[in-house]
Amino acid sequence: MSVRVRFAPSPTGYLHIGSARTALFNFLYARSKGGKFLLRIEDTDLNRSTEESVRSILEGLEWLGLVPDEPIVFQSRNKDKHVAAALRLLEAGKAYRDFTPKEQIEDKNIKETIVERAREQKDLRSNPYRDLSQEESDRRAAAGEPFAIRLKIPKEGKTRFEDAVYGLQERDFSEIEDLVLVRSDGHPLYNLAVVCDDIEMGITDIIRGQDHLTNTHKQILIYEALGAEPPRFAHLPLILAPGGKKLSKRYHGEIVSLTTYRDAGFLPEAFRNFLALLGWSPKNDKEILSMQELIENFSLEGIHRSNAIFNFDPNNPKRWTDDKAIWMNAEYIRTMPLAELLPHVKEELKRAKLWREEYENEQKEWFEKTIDLIRERFFTLKDFSNQGRAYFSEDYDFDSKAIEKNLKKHPELRQLLSELAEKLEQLEDFQAENIEQLIRKFAEEKGIGFGVIMNAARTVLTGVQVGPSMLAVFEILGKQRSVLRLKSNLPWS
Ligand code: GLU
Repeated sequence: MSVRVRFAPSPTGYLHIGSARTALFNFLYARSKGGKFLLRIEDTDLNRSTEESVRSILEGLEWLGLVPDEPIVFQSRNKDKHVAAALRLLEAGKAYRDFTPKEQIEDKNIKETIVERAREQKDLRSNPYRDLSQEESDRRAAAGEPFAIRLKIPKEGKTRFEDAVYGLQERDFSEIEDLVLVRSDGHPLYNLAVVCDDIEMGITDIIRGQDHLTNTHKQILIYEALGAEPPRFAHLPLILAPGGKKLSKRYHGEIVSLTTYRDAGFLPEAFRNFLALLGWSPKNDKEILSMQELIENFSLEGIHRSNAIFNFDPNNPKRWTDDKAIWMNAEYIRTMPLAELLPHVKEELKRAKLWREEYENEQKEWFEKTIDLIRERFFTLKDFSNQGRAYFSEDYDFDSKAIEKNLKKHPELRQLLSELAEKLEQLEDFQAENIEQLIRKFAEEKGIGFGVIMNAARTVLTGVQVGPSMLAVFEILGKQRSVLRLKSNLPWS
């Protein structure tokens, strides 16, 4: 049977990067096997599920390029089928009605006492309704007494399955309580819904977080009761914060949400590559992998058992998220084919109101040369509109540290830069070699270091301390803009 996998998020918040990684691994597995990647929105918790969350999940998946192959399944629409399955199990004697009054079940203390007592007696099968006669059970139900439906787990035996990541998994039936399939208010519960939907969707492999391992044992019991073949399972290691806590929004804030990265100027290609390496490595240990390479190299054997660590330092703005994610993004910005980077830069400049149509027409060549030059040192797309602003606008800020260090320390520069501007204005062929010659000669005449002049020029021309070769910057900005800026009083004020 050809591979069919699904990503099954609950739409109760933003798309967590751990969930995004689960989606990615499912997608890569499906593609590597020539199978299908499906999406099921598990929206049965009506109080917590929101439209907004569904939208954010869809946007996040689209951003990463993980588009499902079939129409989205909404779990809440299958409710009747879930209840019908439970009724079938009831009919077959594989489940039973539990008439324990709702208040008692919901009273946490009573519930805990029941479970504790059962554990002490080493018998989770001690529910008094488990062995109620069929007639008695039918009679009480017909009389309108509310009941939950519980799976009748055999007294002896174990569930076992071979997890593709964690190996053989076994659990003794004595450790699993007769799980509720349908609550007394008619609401089918999670494990039942998941199994019914996975059967109906023809899912062959379930790839999901390691935190579902316990559920898997329960779900296998439901598969068996329903007479269905369980799929193959692969559980993924957790993603932990540096202190060892599970990465969560509650403790770690926005860095956990996928859209944070989109909004912070990450390239989807780069972030996808980074996510793929959180808990998985290819055989060849390569780090930069395109989607095609990820697909070609992906295998469940490459998934690690140990939890992945997400390295960041909330007290250091430069390390606000995992270093590797930032490094990876810079690497993509620097090395990806320019033609693929340009649309992203266009988006960013548009957003910052720096975009001009000329960049795709008469200034196309200049624009592409500029982006190619400045991308060398950039980490995110935001850098094009922040640090790179001076290339696209006359209205840019001056970094105060650069002003102090490169201008105010040498007050004579104010006059000198203006003189230099006069000379540059006379230069006929405004290109790197000539500019360099002219500035070297000028520096010598004035008895000031060439480097001092260049640093000052960088500060005045671009507003920032570091950037590409200054001679290339002169060339890119052109004579007119360079001269005007060198003469300007603005940075001195
Ligand atoms: N809805 C579950 C979750 O978001 C996933 C269920 C599954 O993958 O089986 O954790």
